[in-house]
Amino acid sequence: MSVKWGLIGASTIARQFMINAIRAQEGGEITVVMSSNPERAKVYAGENGIPLAVSSVDDLLNADIDAAYISTTNELHLEQALAAIKAGKHVLCEKPLALTSADARKMVAAAKAAGIVLGTNHHLRNAGAHRAMRDAIASGRIGKPIAARVFHAVYLPETLQGWRITKPEAGGGVVLDITVHDADTLRFVLGDDPVEVSAFAQAAGMAGSGLEDGAMCIWRFKSGLIAQSHEGFTTRYADTGFEVHGSEGSLIGRTVMTQKPIGSVTLRTAKGDEDLSFDREDLYVRSLRQFHAAIRGEGHPSATGEDGVWSLTSAEAALQSAGSGKAVKIDPKLGSMK
Ligand code: NDP
Repeated sequence: MSVKWGLIGASTIARQFMINAIRAQEGGEITVVMSSNPERAKVYAGENGIPLAVSSVDDLLNADIDAAYISTTNELHLEQALAAIKAGKHVLCEKPLALTSADARKMVAAAKAAGIVLGTNHHLRNAGAHRAMRDAIASGRIGKPIAARVFHAVYLPETLQGWRITKPEAGGGVVLDITVHDADTLRFVLGDDPVEVSAFAQAAGMAGSGLEDGAMCIWRFKSGLIAQSHEGFTTRYADTGFEVHGSEGSLIGRTVMTQKPIGSVTLRTAKGDEDLSFDREDLYVRSLRQFHAAIRGEGHPSATGEDGVWSLTSAEAALQSAGSGKAVKIDPKLGSMK
């Protein structure tokens, strides 16, 4: 089956990972790229071997495409996704789906009404490490999960020190950038949903304009499990990790909150330590494979639109909590609630 893609946004993530992931699929083709700047569109198309460069969403949607990948800055996702859905194109949208969970719910409703596939590009669900932890928990290897810890504070590369740290109106800040991933990965690995969050945020010297560049969140899940997550742009020397501690064992993932299929997962029980083996497939290639299958009517994208609503509702609740100093309830049907 051929799937012709249009790229909405001449972005870094598309250049670094998604163009390759699309082309790695049988029948996966990129026919057009859109940048708001015609010159940038042309240069980007030339550098990446994309036949057509356009500078409006309308022109992109009128081109020969089946699906649109949206990786513009966050404030643009809603309008662009609604236009693509209206044109009957399948949509894989970057996280966060929108600036508010109410807008994300609009996208999901529109996609459902149009009968098109909508996915959220939460790459970590496609990591072998996280799938190994999810399987170990689901098969009871750590008994009853009690607590989880996520270490996802990184150093934002200089090339990305733009809108993320300067533009609140573009959906900058570490919570919309990284906390959304942590909320999604916790839901995926634990097979559980967050119901409440309490968060502290900081501006540790990199972000301006009132944006946060560090956050620590404490989450309560439906099952009673509690989790903590640390997201940051300014910690140059920190490692990443993901741990789940249960009544009969612990899972210790090291260097696993990353875009690459690296890291390790140790299962620690009364029997000792066991290194879990897991597949090392490119995360984004797997994401695209699932998406193409969903277009064929086989299953769902690895993270659906609804998953994107969950992660954005969770991040929104974390931001509210950081602002108010109070714990905030999470309900994806209603948004976050003080
Ligand atoms: P970029 O800053 O690279 O691109 C975002 C937009 O900025 C582009 O659409 C482009 O606008 C504009 N832009 C990019 N480079 C330049 C430049 N040199 N000069 C002028 N304008 C430029 O963003 P990212 O690729 O880092 O992020 C894009 C989206 O993807 C965000 O929603 C982000 O949250 C998400 N993301 C997701 C990741 C994941 O693993 N799931 C990882 C990284 C990002 P135009 O298209 O109009 O030219």
